[in-house]
Amino acid sequence: MFENKKIFILGMARSGYEAAKVLASKNNEIIINDKNETQDEKHIEELKKLGIKVVLGSHPIDLIDESIDYVIKNPGIKDSHEMIVYAKKLNIPIINEVEMAYRLLPEDVTIIGITGSNGKTTTTTLVYEILKGANMPVILAGNIGYPLCLELDNIKSKDILLMEISIQQLCNFDKFKTNISVLTNIFEAHLDFVGNKENYINIKKRIFNHHSSNDYAVLNYDNVDVVNNTNDIMSHKEYFSINNKDTLCHLDGKYIVYDGKKIISTDDILLKGNHNYENIMAAILVSKRLNVSDDVIVSVLKNFRGVEHRIEFVKEYNGIKIYNDSKATNVKATEIALSSFDKPTILLLGGLDRGHSFADLTKYMKYVKLIVSYGETKHRIKEYADSIGIKCIVVDDLKGATDIAFDNAVSGDIILLSPACASWDQFKCFEERGEMFKKYVNERK
Ligand code: ADP
Repeated sequence: MFENKKIFILGMARSGYEAAKVLASKNNEIIINDKNETQDEKHIEELKKLGIKVVLGSHPIDLIDESIDYVIKNPGIKDSHEMIVYAKKLNIPIINEVEMAYRLLPEDVTIIGITGSNGKTTTTTLVYEILKGANMPVILAGNIGYPLCLELDNIKSKDILLMEISIQQLCNFDKFKTNISVLTNIFEAHLDFVGNKENYINIKKRIFNHHSSNDYAVLNYDNVDVVNNTNDIMSHKEYFSINNKDTLCHLDGKYIVYDGKKIISTDDILLKGNHNYENIMAAILVSKRLNVSDDVIVSVLKNFRGVEHRIEFVKEYNGIKIYNDSKATNVKATEIALSSFDKPTILLLGGLDRGHSFADLTKYMKYVKLIVSYGETKHRIKEYADSIGIKCIVVDDLKGATDIAFDNAVSGDIILLSPACASWDQFKCFEERGEMFKKYVNERK
């Protein structure tokens, strides 16, 4: 497979670069092409030394002709791209890096694929922590930051390959097949990439491609689009639910129940919010399928602080619990964060001003006792807070906001950074904003 072939790689981002290196070791003739000239110099040199033709700055159409055996496209590139349209016209198979790497995997690898509109990274990370906790030979790859090609050399027969899979990656799947697939939920997301909701759902369903009743589908019973659109899949279906106590894994009062048995109380879990309990239940169903014991699951859930910057538990200070939700770059994400807490909350809001309204937050403000606003949106947030009768203190930056939050918090309170704005007015990215917040919190002695 993929030996002595002529292969055209479109897009030199991380996955294209990793795919090129793998293919170069198999005596293929390779061309890699990207419109963006500003690529990592070291990567360019490395690929050239491997004999790969690197073409940057434009997409000369004559790079593609009938002599090409495969086109490997970066998941972010749309099917309507001129090079893809032309390759299709020439009947050249178009796949992506995951599909290519899949075909090079050893036999007998158990594959878990996790997709959905939201909760992919949290669910994938939880499953990873649980399987590691059970000393299982698990390798993490995919949309979570580790291209599958990068991990290929580390994967042996009988290993468990755990993959977070994005809608973009699913677009060019062909033979790829999992043994266990999770569909966390379907919301209207990425419609720009796939055109309309029907396409989006049909592409998401590829996570169940080639399944038989020996394969498993872990499904969210509470998401109507998930339930209604999976009637025709061949997998053995296992459901989780916040509301329905007939499902295999569900919430019963405070308890997460699996197969009739209480596994853990939500009081003992650091992750908060029904959306996170859904992610936890999906992770439990996957883990149970692989025979992980309750003890291991409970011990991981008691200690898992959440994925960095996503309602991440930072620490407890004098009875005050502090959470970093820097990934909340829009109002919707902050709504989810606010609905995860039922204790007096000091909310840090602010950042880049896109002129967006904060009004949708009002329904979720029940426990918010103070808003601290900062950044470009600070005055607009103050106006909004005044309009709904919540006290708001305006400061310039996140450091000032963190200090004010601590000065006003008492034991039992939550301090929550969930800014409902992008970070770019004062930070490089939401990760940097979250890092700085944690630094300010941890400096507090
Ligand atoms: P993804 O990898 O799909 O982007 P993450 O696990 O990174 O999802 O979570 C990103 C954000 O999506 C979270 O901060 C939260 O606001 C929201 N979220 C997470 N899990 C769920 C879920 N199961 N249902 C709805 N929203 C969720």
